[in-house]
Amino acid sequence: MKKEFWFIVGSQDLYGEEVLKTVAKRAQEMATELSKALPYPLIYKVTAMSNSQITDVIKEANYDDSCYGIITWCHTFSPSKMWINGLSGLQKPFCHLATQYNLEIPNEEIDMDFMNLNQAAHGDREHGFIATRMRMPRKVIAGYWKDPEVRKRIAKWMRVCIGVRTSETMRVMRFGDNMREVAVTEGDKVEAQIKFGWQVNTWATGDLVKEMSKVSEAEIDELFAEYKSKYDIATDKIDAIRYQAREEIAMKKMMDRNGCKAFANTFQDLYGMEQLPGLASQHLMAQGYGYGAEGDWKVSAMTAIIKSMGEKENGASAFMEDYTYHLAKGKECSLGAHMLEVCPSIAEGKPRIETHHLGIGMNAKDPARLVFEGKAGKAVVASLIDMGGRMRLIVQDIEAIKPIMEMPNLPVARVMWKAMPNLTTGVECWILAGGAHHTTLSYDVDAEMLSDWARIMDIEFVHIGKDTTVEGLEKELMLNDLLWKLK
Ligand code: MN
Repeated sequence: MKKEFWFIVGSQDLYGEEVLKTVAKRAQEMATELSKALPYPLIYKVTAMSNSQITDVIKEANYDDSCYGIITWCHTFSPSKMWINGLSGLQKPFCHLATQYNLEIPNEEIDMDFMNLNQAAHGDREHGFIATRMRMPRKVIAGYWKDPEVRKRIAKWMRVCIGVRTSETMRVMRFGDNMREVAVTEGDKVEAQIKFGWQVNTWATGDLVKEMSKVSEAEIDELFAEYKSKYDIATDKIDAIRYQAREEIAMKKMMDRNGCKAFANTFQDLYGMEQLPGLASQHLMAQGYGYGAEGDWKVSAMTAIIKSMGEKENGASAFMEDYTYHLAKGKECSLGAHMLEVCPSIAEGKPRIETHHLGIGMNAKDPARLVFEGKAGKAVVASLIDMGGRMRLIVQDIEAIKPIMEMPNLPVARVMWKAMPNLTTGVECWILAGGAHHTTLSYDVDAEMLSDWARIMDIEFVHIGKDTTVEGLEKELMLNDLLWKLK
């Protein structure tokens, strides 16, 4: 399935044929040039001059699965009552690019003909008004279309739209239910389907065990060879690794058969299994599947969605959990990890396969897992919670660092980071916002992208960044509560 974005240029029929021909020619040139710089092609569709033309192209955009979003721009003036019928039916993400064909005001050349043709400065305002009047969620990007910064922002918005489609088509396979008594991993699955499109359903762990028993030794040989080529084997318990391969193959078959792109399980329900899937879950995440531990289907779906927004639609994003803090003054940082399941897409260097005893759960044998350090760099952690009546996405900016200690006895993958605005204020804000201990950590998306995603999905968004204060955040949360009760 091809993935493209449509460029719809607004105009009207008062300008005469010459002007309109020039607009169409330039629009085509801009779409062609932009496509070379963007991760997905931008297809010039039409210079729209009437209500029916706009309605037609938007209907076509709604029904064409290859169209992931529309980008509009007004080279000339385009009276926006013409846009009402079309925009009121729009079902695809919408970006308004407020740009102009020329970079500079041409001192010598400027005359009334130039003014007639180059009216974006006021054409885009007329266009903006109607979308605001109609309360339309959309992205507005302003700047010169050849500016690399502008192109970067369009590229990021396109990636958000990939995440929107991943969400709309998301199916989550739950092996068993939620970890007993845990609140934040629960949620309204009906609401999630209405808001996000997610189909979240349960399969018995026994069904997985049955599927595992059908996996052949040859299939395991093949996957074992793949593990060997990607990772360092730092254990002599080869059987434990082969058992994880069996688990991975069986889970992948079940998910692919049911069109699932994400899964959740819980250590409390390993009925008939010798090991909690560790390496198996990690290698599935490396292939783009989302994962949530302890039955956490929300973080699982979000991880798959955020991964799909990254490079090659499987970026450096991972299921994560805040584990412990380093509270020493001036050196404050967080240590994130999980019992086993952190995606190796965020690893610095080659992960090692190790086996260790896991006391929690019903593991008869020591589960094999990938052990590594996360890479350094700017990142975010994101948590989706169910507030009862609405979903809230909380995003915090972080700076991942090279771990300041070796932690030679910690038998799991780990990431160390400095949270914004600082560790303790960040913790206070996170707790006040109700953020979960499970998150998706991503080096590929930023708060702006997740805010864009939340706007398209029509859910609440809370950002904790370098300028966030507890006082300001409390006020925002209180106002949000009122606002979302009215919505
Ligand atoms: Mn957990």
